[in-house]
Amino acid sequence: MAERVPIREGTFREGPDGGALLANKCKACGQIFFPKAKLCLACLHEELEEVPLSKKGTLYSYTIAHMPSSFFPPPHAMGYVDLPESVRVFAPLKIIEDKPFDVGMEMELVIEKLGEVDEKEIIGYVFKPV
Ligand SMILES: [Zn+2]
Repeated sequence: MAERVPIREGTFREGPDGGALLANKCKACGQIFFPKAKLCLACLHEELEEVPLSKKGTLYSYTIAHMPSSFFPPPHAMGYVDLPESVRVFAPLKIIEDKPFDVGMEMELVIEKLGEVDEKEIIGYVFKPV
């Protein structure tokens, strides 16, 4: 079986529950950051703890591109998904034919293989319409 390599180390975890994005949370004021911050951008406290984010959120904005990119054949979609933790995540979106994107619709996280490089599977996160 090919080795699975995350496209960006530490941004998500895989698991039998479908995995989750990993953010960090300020131990002083509770602010949550994704991608993780080195120190709290709200109160400058330096102690933050890793927390998994909710898998479901709502679509804030999206765009559909018709240019090829390294892992996504055209057309492919990118967008912002708002999670209940008050975090806005920029991520690739999965295009599902009978579920067109609509601002405010419910989206769900999927951890999946994006492509292969040097016989390694590159794993990343996308959001798909629920
Ligand atoms: Zn803080």
